[in-house]
Amino acid sequence: MTEDEAAGGTGSDVSRRDYVKLGGAALAGLSFASLGGAVSGDDGGADAGAGEGDGSGNPLLIEDGTVVTVDPDYGILHDADVFVRDGRIELIGESVDAPAADVVDASDSIVVPGFVNAHLHTWESSVRGIAGDWTFQEYLVKMLGEISSHYRPEDAYLGNLFGAVQQLNAGTTTVLDWFHIANTPEHTDRAIDGLRDAGIRSLFAHGPPGDDSARWWENSSVTHPDDVRRLATERFPSDDGLRTLAMGIRGPDYSTDEVVASDIELARELGVPASMHVGSLGSGGVAKLDELGLLGDDLNYVHGNRLTDEEFRLIGESGGSVSTTPEVELQMGMGMPALGDALEAGAVPSVGVDVVSNVSDDMFTQTRMALQVQRGLANQPVVERGEQIQSVSPTVHRALEFATIEGARALGLADEIGSLTPGKRADITLIDTDDLNTAPVHDPVETVVLQSGIGNVDTVIVDGTVVKRNGLIHNPTAANHLDRLEASGRRILRRSDL
Ligand SMILES: [Zn+2]
Repeated sequence: MTEDEAAGGTGSDVSRRDYVKLGGAALAGLSFASLGGAVSGDDGGADAGAGEGDGSGNPLLIEDGTVVTVDPDYGILHDADVFVRDGRIELIGESVDAPAADVVDASDSIVVPGFVNAHLHTWESSVRGIAGDWTFQEYLVKMLGEISSHYRPEDAYLGNLFGAVQQLNAGTTTVLDWFHIANTPEHTDRAIDGLRDAGIRSLFAHGPPGDDSARWWENSSVTHPDDVRRLATERFPSDDGLRTLAMGIRGPDYSTDEVVASDIELARELGVPASMHVGSLGSGGVAKLDELGLLGDDLNYVHGNRLTDEEFRLIGESGGSVSTTPEVELQMGMGMPALGDALEAGAVPSVGVDVVSNVSDDMFTQTRMALQVQRGLANQPVVERGEQIQSVSPTVHRALEFATIEGARALGLADEIGSLTPGKRADITLIDTDDLNTAPVHDPVETVVLQSGIGNVDTVIVDGTVVKRNGLIHNPTAANHLDRLEASGRRILRRSDL
């Protein structure tokens, strides 16, 4: 299959209108190109997803774009081509000669690395938009104490499939999926199937079950489910594919010292990173990890709002990463986003969505919010002194790094993704420059970070495979199962005692 066929087209001259004429379903702004793809099995055992992105198709030439590489050696290139072969970026330059390649015309596009969403509970896409007025305590009680127990394996599949497809639709090519409804091994397997069928690059952070929050989340004395060992050998036997394994551990805020030590030791035994929520209820969690001798560069700290300066110093010194999810942190009373603390401490800064039950799901919004809130925090002491600020920080260019290369670093994937660098995997997003909210483009980075949104995402490529083109997602599995997602979400909420 050629890249163009994979994209549902017949050649490089397929216009936007042709795609629209192909028909397809649309739900909540998620538009699909109808490819007539067959899906097997009523159990949702769909195996005809967007492709495994094995890069086995024709070479791909992204032509005449404004290429924002996020690689300091390449910078920003105008009227440049990106040549992709075997799923990798082979060459970036002017007038690349590749007669056999399928061509993506990027003359009206900004070409950026696909965004890295460093923290998402993908399964919650089934209950999108129900928790916009919830506090953090309400979330813990209702979401993790009630709703999560009503998910069946197929609900986990549909939530993950559609949650991940929407990430692609929004220009995000990699997601850390923090999965905490591992109620049975089947739930877990189907969630991984959902990521597979979406065709997204993912770090699957296997977490605890969602069927007993008191047991798993309240100073839990129960160690991480042993099923993760099966995943390591059966579902993730190697780390060279689109999907890799991590552990979503409860950490010091939600489990005993013994459990924290056991869980981190298990992650290290399996050779996978461990991600934990910490510092959104209070401080002391990272100090505890230090006391237990557990700090390391394989640990990812989510939120961190209430951690002390000393705890951030410990994270930075140990090479850990911090994932800020600004919109939900501001809403639910976790505290102000800790991006600035992470930067000051030299920790790897990354940005994520967290929960679409509450907040918007695109990295444009989250990155913009992380940037401007941090600027506001930095400006405020000056304002309170009655003075005028002399400079603005962080910069917009730095914010694009948070959403790309820094996110890749946080997930341990920076050697493969996060910038448009020859030799890296081809995870690429094209932003339209001729839309009313993006034209004219004077600084392409400002256009991407501050002016663009999901509606400007024209083309998305994961591992060399085109998954969105001309504004339309190409995923027959998802296109044929939209009604099942709606039914799943309604059933879960009907059964939940809210
Ligand atoms: Zn979270």
